[in-house]
Amino acid sequence: MVRTTIGAPELREMLRFTAEVLVKEEPRLNALDAAIGDGDHGITVRVGFQAVKKSMESTSACADIATMVGNAGRAFMGVTGGAIGIILGKMLICGQEVLKGRKALGVDELQRWLEAMKSTIATVGKAKPGDKTILDAVHAASVAVSISSSESKDIAEALLAASHAAKWAASETANMLCKVGRASRLGERVLGHPDPGAVTFSIILDSFYRWLVEHPIETYASPPLDSCA
Ligand SMILES: [Mg+2]
Repeated sequence: MVRTTIGAPELREMLRFTAEVLVKEEPRLNALDAAIGDGDHGITVRVGFQAVKKSMESTSACADIATMVGNAGRAFMGVTGGAIGIILGKMLICGQEVLKGRKALGVDELQRWLEAMKSTIATVGKAKPGDKTILDAVHAASVAVSISSSESKDIAEALLAASHAAKWAASETANMLCKVGRASRLGERVLGHPDPGAVTFSIILDSFYRWLVEHPIETYASPPLDSCA
């Protein structure tokens, strides 16, 4: 049976799992950042996602998907600083607006959220695709989901396509020069090193997909409406 949506209580579990994965990635992400920056990307991600995990634990299972991602983003932004802290926080928060009123996360909702992330990064980070930023991974994921969604509404298939595309795009950033941010001053020294933000985004999508594969049917069914009144 094809699975087409992820309900709100499940999205909460998925975000919590993703946060746990990213907390463990701190050393690798710091090392990637040390090659082209100040080496603190893994710290920002760890601190931010520890807060996301906590916020998911205190968000009601009755909350809708928009509230889930909004709470996660506000938690992230509340404890992190720097450009990437604001960008990652707002990438989560922007989901609140575009997912408002949606009962579950399906392929269309995923596409809307990725589009919103793209405009958020373009506005906040003043980046374009090809500038060696997290946007390269988000852009690739968005293209992959739009292709996947024209053929199938299978949410696992869409997330797999998105995660492969983001991983490929993150590795491609190693061949790019930094156009924005502090690392833009490093010129060709950044060649051979991927953008840590793009790698982080590919890990987020990979974690979403892995969680989904381990939960092929709705094990966290939505609570009955009367229990949420
Ligand atoms: Mg840094």
